[in-house]
Amino acid sequence: MNKPLIMVVEDDTAVRNLITTTLETHEYRFQAAVTGETAILEVATHNPDVILLDLGLPDMDGIAVIQKIRTWSKTPIIVISARSEDVDKIEALDAGADDYLTKPFSVEELLARLRVTFRRLNDRNGDSVQSSIFQNGNLKIDYAAGCAFMKEKELHLTPIEYKLLCLLSKNVGKVLTHTYITKEIWGSAWDNDVASLRVFMATLRKKIEENSSDPKYIQTHIGVGYRMLRI
Ligand code: CA
Repeated sequence: MNKPLIMVVEDDTAVRNLITTTLETHEYRFQAAVTGETAILEVATHNPDVILLDLGLPDMDGIAVIQKIRTWSKTPIIVISARSEDVDKIEALDAGADDYLTKPFSVEELLARLRVTFRRLNDRNGDSVQSSIFQNGNLKIDYAAGCAFMKEKELHLTPIEYKLLCLLSKNVGKVLTHTYITKEIWGSAWDNDVASLRVFMATLRKKIEENSSDPKYIQTHIGVGYRMLRI
């Protein structure tokens, strides 16, 4: 099997070297780009498996790079942003990025995000996506029948809780922003929808998590959104 190819788009030499060295020592191949313009060109030419994208690029906005790439490619994009670019990070996820890393990040964190992304890619390519049954740990959803089970016991979910659970499960491994979720569930994204979302998430967690204060299935990304983890 070919080693996966990772496109690294980062103008900061030290960060870029840290990433590429990490990739090299962990059996990944990489291609590096310093500007948005070359990144788009390289992605089109080499068709990488995953893109690691810094948002603050010298020639163009990282979000514009995502939008451009998304016009033809579904290649997973993991955004790398500085903490001061928090708003951009959310905007990037809404533009079609799959995950994010906040600077400064550890090598372990980077490798963990890559593993999540590859598992998600395998899920996407596997049968589980076409199938109407979703299984994740003890959680089972029968999309066709419109019901969900925990340890083979049917869950009594409200329509909104069920919709929320389906949305997260269909995007397992991917961070979904508050805006994205509320738009999908309610068709709008007002502040009070985000507040309602928190309430529904709390009641959903009580029903699916063994310990809702230490959730295993649905992870909170403070200020950003939620992600269902692959168990
Ligand atoms: Ca930068």
